[in-house]
Amino acid sequence: VKISVKELNEGTNAFPFEIETQRFEGILREVDDLYRAAGVACAADLYVDKVEDLLQLKGTVRAPLGFACARCLKDLDGALDLELRWTLLPKSHFEGSPEEQELTEDDLDVSFFEEDEIDLEALVREAILLELEPIPRCSIDDCPEARYLADAQSSALTNGLDPRWAPLAALKDKFSKE
Ligand SMILES: [Zn+2]
Repeated sequence: VKISVKELNEGTNAFPFEIETQRFEGILREVDDLYRAAGVACAADLYVDKVEDLLQLKGTVRAPLGFACARCLKDLDGALDLELRWTLLPKSHFEGSPEEQELTEDDLDVSFFEEDEIDLEALVREAILLELEPIPRCSIDDCPEARYLADAQSSALTNGLDPRWAPLAALKDKFSKE
């Protein structure tokens, strides 16, 4: 979904759009293969405010997704709800200027665009990539594998074992029982 800056009206411009399931899943898998789409599209409800040369992007993104916990492989459903509020700046305006060094895209609320074009889908992708945990896991309390490791760690401590070896010791334990 690409918009032309020249064609924006002064004031608020609404851009509701969806990223269809397969493309959305592609974005999720860029983070980790354990993520998947929940079978529905990712819905973005974005607005671009234009006041003379200043552009601001705001709106919400609803990304229904699921993942397998990296620890216990339990399959979970969830949804990522994002609120975006970014200032959009033309790249050309800053090229080679001292401000360019100070204003980088590491400032989460600044995004640059080239020429006359803003790719809204690319911005949503960026927001999703920034927000998702690199490795999905269920919460410590619900994760049987996390409890297992925690138990192993505490029993290692009582046995006088270096706690860093606890996961290995637990594994050894597991195999000797089988
Ligand atoms: Zn888990």
